[in-house]
Amino acid sequence: MRYQSTRDKSISFTSAEAIARGLSRDGGLFVPEEIPALTMEEIEKLCGMKYQDRAVYIMKKYLDDFSEEELRGFASAAYADNYDTDSIAPLYKLDEDTFFLELWHGPTCAFKDMALQMLPHLLTASLVKNGEEKQVCILVATSGDTGKAALEGFSDVQGTKIMVFYPKDGVSDIQKLQMASQEGGNVGVCSVVGNFDDAQTGVKAIFSDPELRERLAEKGYFLSSANSINWGRLLPQVVYYVSAYCDVVSSGRIALGDSINICVPTGNFGNILAGYYAKKMGVPVKKLVCASNSNDVLTEFINTGVYNRNRDFYTTISPSMDILVSSNLERLLFEMSGKDEDKIRGYMADLNTKGVYTVDEKIKASLDNEFAAGCCSEEETKETIGETFNEHGYLIDTHTAVAYHVMKAYRDSTGDLTPAVVVSTASPYKFCAAVLEALGEKADADGLTLIDRLIEASGVPAPKPIIALKNKKVRFDGWTEKDGMTKVVEDFLK
Ligand SMILES: *Cc1c(COP(=O)(O)O)cnc(C)c1O
Repeated sequence: MRYQSTRDKSISFTSAEAIARGLSRDGGLFVPEEIPALTMEEIEKLCGMKYQDRAVYIMKKYLDDFSEEELRGFASAAYADNYDTDSIAPLYKLDEDTFFLELWHGPTCAFKDMALQMLPHLLTASLVKNGEEKQVCILVATSGDTGKAALEGFSDVQGTKIMVFYPKDGVSDIQKLQMASQEGGNVGVCSVVGNFDDAQTGVKAIFSDPELRERLAEKGYFLSSANSINWGRLLPQVVYYVSAYCDVVSSGRIALGDSINICVPTGNFGNILAGYYAKKMGVPVKKLVCASNSNDVLTEFINTGVYNRNRDFYTTISPSMDILVSSNLERLLFEMSGKDEDKIRGYMADLNTKGVYTVDEKIKASLDNEFAAGCCSEEETKETIGETFNEHGYLIDTHTAVAYHVMKAYRDSTGDLTPAVVVSTASPYKFCAAVLEALGEKADADGLTLIDRLIEASGVPAPKPIIALKNKKVRFDGWTEKDGMTKVVEDFLK
């Protein structure tokens, strides 16, 4: 199967090439030429498999230049005792109609691990397949969780270097400490004065700087991305949607073939887009419910068809969703427009110059058909955490709370009581301060002290990697203005 650019279908690559490049030269994103089908018989078969085998089965359909044996090796390395549960992506049943898909049992306690424990295997194998002789330098702009997960995935992986930029005041204490204390001889971390969009714009500018590319090539480096614009990031995420469906069936709550709803806390639109691919493959999903925090650009877009980034930016207690430009939306528009590359180029040009575009009626109708959307205020986020804990003894993080709130509001307003999977994207211990406040506790201390306070207040054990932070040394405390990011990269690769 080949991969084409969303802005120019004549640009076409093998999966290994698409993964190595990350982003297409024309600024487009790589998408599979067709979405492979998954029959109900296959889904039934997958129900009897463990997570690693489900991953191999799904990924094989998209990666025909990789052997099954290779993929088997990757899956058993990516999803092993670096996870604190054998089921890797367990489903928690809250009540008859609500399941939480817990995607934070990996080494950095957020769902980004699901993809970023896999991506280094896919990428290094892709480089070998492509006969690449230069070393790859991964550049990451992060709203908090991607950075740590990418660092952890690529730490000391041979033939790779990784540089992470995060917004200086846009991440939680724990997130900052997780990144600043990263071990490994090939890693770099730097904060950027600005918000996530500034960091992401800076990284995109570095990628599209031909002179820089040449200077780095002379030194033996080329740049690639671990952001969710890379197909190798997105594909491992398709797996857990299929897996969740199988687990709802196995729980006995629905019969094979019955539909579920899925609600996803959304920022860059990567996670929910993977759900869309799973739906298009054949997983019975009625609605994908897109949940936003106060940065509700996607809620407005799905409800009106107008994408307008000209609005205030809010720093919230669910920082991994503080995003105004959701890169992966371009892939959805490409699919929904019937792969109309001219249209996509037009929308993206409008977004660039005016900050706003309006999709045509055909796309709007598809959006209505496949998606629902809602947003959640800071107050509602905290209320949801408090209520869920008080009523069920189940502790959720701020991002997951946004999704659960939006899911409940969707049920109330539509009467659609299809069993729902709420995607749980982070451990509550990554966002101790906000979670403590939601439980009515004080949060006036540093991040490490708050971990103990949350253990005491909730009785819920903290994940091991969070506890281990107490003994970690800070290795990186550098920062830059946004126009200094190129220099940081060049110094890193000196
Ligand atoms: C990254 C992240 C999100 C948003 O995911 P997208 O793929 O960017 O939409 C939500 N919750 C958490 C905890 C995250 O780390």
